[in-house]
Amino acid sequence: MGTVLIIGAGGVGNVVAHKCAQIPDVFSSITLASRTLEKCRKIQHDVKEKTGRTIDIAKVDAGNVPETASLIRQVRPDVVINVALPYQDLTIMDACLETGTHYVDTANYEPIDVPKFEYKWQWAYHDRFKSKGIMAVLGCGFDPGVSNAYCAYAQKKLYDEINTIDIVDCNAGSHGHAFATNFNPEINIREITQNGKYWENGKWIETNPMEISLDFDYPEAGPKKSYLLFHEELESLVKHIKGLKRIRFWMTFSENYITHLKVLQNIGMTRVDEVEFEGKKIVPIQFLKALLPDPGSLGANYTGKTVIGCVFDGIKNGSRKKSFIYNICDHAECYKEVGSQAVSYTAGVPPVIGAMMIINGIWKGQGVFNVEQLDPEPFLEMLNKHGLPWQLTDFHSSILEK
Ligand code: NDP
Repeated sequence: MGTVLIIGAGGVGNVVAHKCAQIPDVFSSITLASRTLEKCRKIQHDVKEKTGRTIDIAKVDAGNVPETASLIRQVRPDVVINVALPYQDLTIMDACLETGTHYVDTANYEPIDVPKFEYKWQWAYHDRFKSKGIMAVLGCGFDPGVSNAYCAYAQKKLYDEINTIDIVDCNAGSHGHAFATNFNPEINIREITQNGKYWENGKWIETNPMEISLDFDYPEAGPKKSYLLFHEELESLVKHIKGLKRIRFWMTFSENYITHLKVLQNIGMTRVDEVEFEGKKIVPIQFLKALLPDPGSLGANYTGKTVIGCVFDGIKNGSRKKSFIYNICDHAECYKEVGSQAVSYTAGVPPVIGAMMIINGIWKGQGVFNVEQLDPEPFLEMLNKHGLPWQLTDFHSSILEK
């Protein structure tokens, strides 16, 4: 049994708090901290209603290392789960180092003024975490996170050689708004408006934003236009999956979503730099965030499903083998269970299972790790039990062979 400190009371933090509360034999004590105590209080109330458990709450500015370290000293968690925004990753890692506490997050560090994500800043903590005898698990959401575990499982159990991986992410849900993002709009829009990038034959190939697309036939959701994006797990999987020749990431977007995004981009509303407005400095994308529906509020009317998975093409026992590992998650069912839609749910369950792996001594390590470096089997087994079951099928389509 262990103690957990969750930092960040957004849509994902809500799911993490509910899920930890559902597993009392692992999480004996839970504290949820964020900059706005009111958000924590609401989640505390909802968790009590749904699970009967009382979680503790605290106010913290995780951008401030001494303040965060002081909270960690007070709570004395076995693991800190960071589901605040990625700009706080390094400061929370600093606080974990200072206090000797294990760390799990779901998204990699991004400088606030540059729309790009890279692991180099967090990988640079490896030796310091190692010498402190603690573990950091990076990107332990769904994608990155479960997608990395699917790859590790394919490498360990299904293939002698994996030649290509295509990660496919489909949200076939409907929230009833003309335009809204499913998680933090700043992060979502930054992710989509940067250049696409994939890795082939030892080098990165860059594309214009949303330049390449194909119609992928998703189980239950049917064919959906999917766009090639750069996504952070590609960077670590290229390092850790041996013999790989190509890896790409695809995500679905509706025509309506893309039209809105194009207009917002064309008029400068997705800019991440400061602009002068009536004597004040504002960042357009942050202003846009204030106007858009709060992703956390989308859950109540959300219908439909998400389908996220990995398609593998490679060799087993001398023969070619193509397989697909995926999860299907239903927005309305997630809302009924924890009061959040499936995008927050799929991102929020995995860090809870990651923290469980650390507390139970199943994932052991000193230093900084990506999910595919850790044993995928107990992790996937627990996902099956705690709301994110996965399926494995043969893959017969040739859609990805170009
Ligand atoms: P939200 O914006 O809804 O929530 C973020 C929370 O962090 C808010 O409660 C915010 O509080 C809090 N926060 C921000 N800055 C600070 C700070 N300095 N100190 C303390 N708390 C702070 O985001 P989501 O819940 O949608 O996403 C959370 C994380 O999960 C993000 O990093 C996102 O990229 C990641 N994610 C990962 C996915 C995956 O599959 N791997 C998928 C979806 C999301 P306040 O408003 O009071 O500032």
